[in-house]
Amino acid sequence: MLEIKNLHVKLEDEDKAILKGVDLTVEAGKVHAIMGPNGSGKSTLSYVLSGRDGYEVTDGSATLLGEDILDMEPEERAAAGMFLAFQYPVEIPGVGNMTFLRSAVNAQRKARGEEEMSSTEFLKVIREKAKDLQIDQDMLKRPVNVGFSGGEKKRNEILQMAMLEPKLCILDETDSGLDVDAMKLVSEGVNALRSPDRGFLVITHYQRLLDHIKPDVVHIMSDGKIVKTGGPELAMEVETHGYQDLKEGA
Ligand code: ADP
Ligand code: MG
Ligand code: MG
Repeated sequence: MLEIKNLHVKLEDEDKAILKGVDLTVEAGKVHAIMGPNGSGKSTLSYVLSGRDGYEVTDGSATLLGEDILDMEPEERAAAGMFLAFQYPVEIPGVGNMTFLRSAVNAQRKARGEEEMSSTEFLKVIREKAKDLQIDQDMLKRPVNVGFSGGEKKRNEILQMAMLEPKLCILDETDSGLDVDAMKLVSEGVNALRSPDRGFLVITHYQRLLDHIKPDVVHIMSDGKIVKTGGPELAMEVETHGYQDLKEGA
């Protein structure tokens, strides 16, 4: 599904290398977790995959379902089936949440050559999914993320993900700033989306999220590279010993 080979990335306006040869394959139906200390390049990897400005790929490749994504515009990547849930979801004043979701869903359908979702169908689907995430009508009517609590923003990200039905879901520190109840709700939302034809890349600093979203594979990133790969037990190792012992060569 997602295949990253020898990816090197630097900042666009500075000679600072951030990713220094990332190799990673995420298969359909699998949940891969990336853990690592702060500043190791986890968010940068997710930004580069989603097409955010400010970064320059100096070497390597990334394909989604066989298509080179690094040359695509962010909206083309979304149409190709990629979704990134942000560590810090953006507020969009003046744009109602529901209106935003409806145009996102329809823009994506159009890009895929599918018919628009009728407003009746859209309402039915969004009400169902919002209910599962305990998002009330009021939150659907308010401007996107404006005045939402940390937990509400993260739940809203998962609602977007559920509505867009991506092929590859990337979650960047979705657990940051969440209390245990909110984390459970978000995790249930994510788990409900697990399916044989969908892959997940779950980025997290802490092991606790992985108690709720059980990964198939765990990678440790350090200084711009994946330095260790293993099963769910690797996350437990980090919990017990910290990242120090897991760095390259250890
Ligand atoms: P993580 O998500 O693992 O905490 P990041 O990807 O956010 O790591 O950051 C990796 C490194 O790159 C850090 O040293 C960070 O300061 C630096 N970095 C990332 N983006 C920028 C930027 N736009 N400007 C300056 N430094 C950046
Ligand atoms: Mg960070
Ligand atoms: Mg980060």
